[in-house]
Amino acid sequence: MSGKVTHSNGKSAAGVMDQELLACFRTHSQFVMCAHEKPDGDVLGSGFALGLALEGMGKKVIYFLDDEVPKNLLFLPNSEKTQRTFERVADDAIFVFLDMSDQSRAGKALGWVPPNRIVNIDHHLGNRRFGRWNYVLESEAATGVLVLNLITALGREVTPDVATCLLTTLISDTGCFLYSNAKPSTLRLAAALVNVGANKDLITEQLYQTRTFSGQKVLGRTLDEAVLTDDGICYSVVPQALLEEFGATHEDLEDVVGALRAVDRCEVAALLKESPDGSYRLSLRSRGKFNVMRMAQTLKGGGHFRAAGATLAGPLASALACTLEAVRMEMAAAHAAQT
Ligand code: 5GP
Ligand code: MN
Repeated sequence: MSGKVTHSNGKSAAGVMDQELLACFRTHSQFVMCAHEKPDGDVLGSGFALGLALEGMGKKVIYFLDDEVPKNLLFLPNSEKTQRTFERVADDAIFVFLDMSDQSRAGKALGWVPPNRIVNIDHHLGNRRFGRWNYVLESEAATGVLVLNLITALGREVTPDVATCLLTTLISDTGCFLYSNAKPSTLRLAAALVNVGANKDLITEQLYQTRTFSGQKVLGRTLDEAVLTDDGICYSVVPQALLEEFGATHEDLEDVVGALRAVDRCEVAALLKESPDGSYRLSLRSRGKFNVMRMAQTLKGGGHFRAAGATLAGPLASALACTLEAVRMEMAAAHAAQT
């Protein structure tokens, strides 16, 4: 069922898929796909899709991930191949960083990689262009779109497995086509991927219709504790103790920040999730008026206009104060710019 699926030509002011990048993939023989910590469907689907295409070209591919593959993404072809550590690689091996605005998002286990061996493929606002080859298109809904452009330019076929990986990137980063980044071209691309064999039902079942009981319990408790401020910030906290009470993990919390944002008077949703080391992972979401990426950046994080994140030191009182300050600073700046 595999066949031809095309999208854009991959050129824009933000990043150019030039001949040098294609030559890099054609001439090197070993690649390390680098995913970010707390991996999602976009980074994993992108890495496995590109890896499958490169393997089809006879290349050796290592799938680096300084984390576990979330249970609901274990259906992705090649997901059993991720590794946290690997043997020495060839001197000319190329490291392909996917879906991350800076190199450090790959985690500590990777160590520093010299820029001249880095391909950087991403769609985040404010990507730091940290590679020798930077293929960055901020306007695209998912990194998977850029990977499809690459696979096509390399003359590789989109097999059903590759199509499933790529459709996962779209479904994951658009919230199942719910968010505003799902444009007509995204929907057409999704249709084309289903047409060549992507398993849409498996993806949506795993990503949106399957939840752990413990996660649902934590969702309920977290919503019960949520605060809605007069200026439209809806926030809540997930302490470690709550996760322990129900035997849940951060992986079980995907829906919580979206449920906060869904509140009709909420402009910005903020969720602080305590980690075992006492630090907090912050997730920010916007209804569309305010740029949460800029809020996250003031906290040394990043992301997109409507979805961003950062890591904050404890204790909770200071993490929450820093969060609200960053949110309100950006809201005030946006209001000031309007008047
Ligand atoms: P989430 O809230 O789902 O963890 O993240 C939302 C978005 O923000 C994702 O696109 C993710 O890549 C980005 N993001 C989350 N945390 C960080 C961070 O610590 N640094 C950067 N640069 N981006 C982040
Ligand atoms: Mn992404």
